[in-house]
Amino acid sequence: MRAVLCHACYAEPDAMPDCAACHGSGRATRMPLCDDPWNEVVPGLWQGGHDVRSHRRFACVVTDQFDLVVSLVDRGGYGPDEGVEHHVFRIADAVVDTLVAERLQELATVVAAAVREDRRVLVRCSGGLNRSGLVVARTLVELGHPVSEAVDLVRAARGPWALTNPMFVAHLKSL
Ligand SMILES: [Zn+2]
Repeated sequence: MRAVLCHACYAEPDAMPDCAACHGSGRATRMPLCDDPWNEVVPGLWQGGHDVRSHRRFACVVTDQFDLVVSLVDRGGYGPDEGVEHHVFRIADAVVDTLVAERLQELATVVAAAVREDRRVLVRCSGGLNRSGLVVARTLVELGHPVSEAVDLVRAARGPWALTNPMFVAHLKSL
């Protein structure tokens, strides 16, 4: 697996040299799954995935808990129910190029509009850490949060391994 950012110092220059988790490398190679299928990041906006630590088969199946579901991977058998608005946009857990940046902008506009209308929105990827974190953080910026606060909110909701793809973090910081 490709190296991800350390979940303790996030390779921040001030914290990295003394970091006990990565011993100053700023990088990690493991990324454990979350306990919860999804968590609420700000009121009405949830972030999650298709896999949880327990590997309980139906834990991540969406029925009618949400008004809008955005799936960044395409996997059958995980809902949502018929009649729930569902957008599938595949995004690779890789670099953010111009095309992906445009798609992110579009997604953030759609999700932010739904949150403003008090609809319950779920953004989900595989582990519910990076791709969903990227879209949720981008949406939070659209809703007026500073980038650093958006990243912190995502990590507070989904745990320290959220947004540890260094290219995603770099893209957010470039906004
Ligand atoms: Zn570290």
